[in-house]
Amino acid sequence: MRRILAFALIMIVAITFAEFNINYKVQSGDTLYELSHNFNIPIPVLMDWNPGVTPSNLKIGQTLKIPLVSGILYKPTKSMTLSTLAKYFFIDPEEITAINPTVGSSIAANKEIFVPVGKVNTSFTQLADFVWPVYGSITSEFGWRLHPIYKKNMYHSGIDIGVPQGTPVFAARGGTVKYAGWKSDYGNLIIIDHGGYQTYYAHLSKINVYVGLRVEKGDFIARSGNTGTSTGPHLHFEVRKNDELQDPVAYLPRTNTYVMRRVLSE
Ligand SMILES: [Zn+2]
Repeated sequence: MRRILAFALIMIVAITFAEFNINYKVQSGDTLYELSHNFNIPIPVLMDWNPGVTPSNLKIGQTLKIPLVSGILYKPTKSMTLSTLAKYFFIDPEEITAINPTVGSSIAANKEIFVPVGKVNTSFTQLADFVWPVYGSITSEFGWRLHPIYKKNMYHSGIDIGVPQGTPVFAARGGTVKYAGWKSDYGNLIIIDHGGYQTYYAHLSKINVYVGLRVEKGDFIARSGNTGTSTGPHLHFEVRKNDELQDPVAYLPRTNTYVMRRVLSE
């Protein structure tokens, strides 16, 4: 109860100073899971605000940034419209302006804004087992292709979806994180095991999950990037069935406004 009262007081102070987070000093007995539960902020969101923090390295007295509501700071590398930004987060533009009253119809490059994150694509979860991990166009399809860096015919193990650096990445299906770290060509990689199926999210700039974490379909898990063998910012996404490569497009929903159109000529 005391903790709730203290939290309410901090909220009021923080809102008065128009900040999006509080600073919290880790106390004896705190765990990442418990903090996530008490503050009602998902673990990947806490990890996004506090790079390098994992359940095993939390230290008493350490200061954590905790957002007032579930959301992350986003800094567009190029100017973009509010509606484009909203699409990257799979939310309505009004959800952004409600929290950032000074934001207009376009957002300047490098202007940092706070964007709420929740579960995405809930409107068509019944239609497909998987959801799109990011909003963007397919820039390279699954299968044989001339490799852009190695300049020879190679099998493309997934699809590439063009998105700017730092775009939120969402779990395509519920499951347990099986791998979270660096892996040669993939760069920063997350592998989620869905029981029979696995999904891969590669070239990430920021990994916000750890091995063993249970995630639900549409949960925020990472930020996209350009790490590993990559010619520009994009998400490389794979679907495997019992470790055998599949064409991810066959598993992703097509009949919703948030479904990407294929762009073959990019
Ligand atoms: Zn790729």
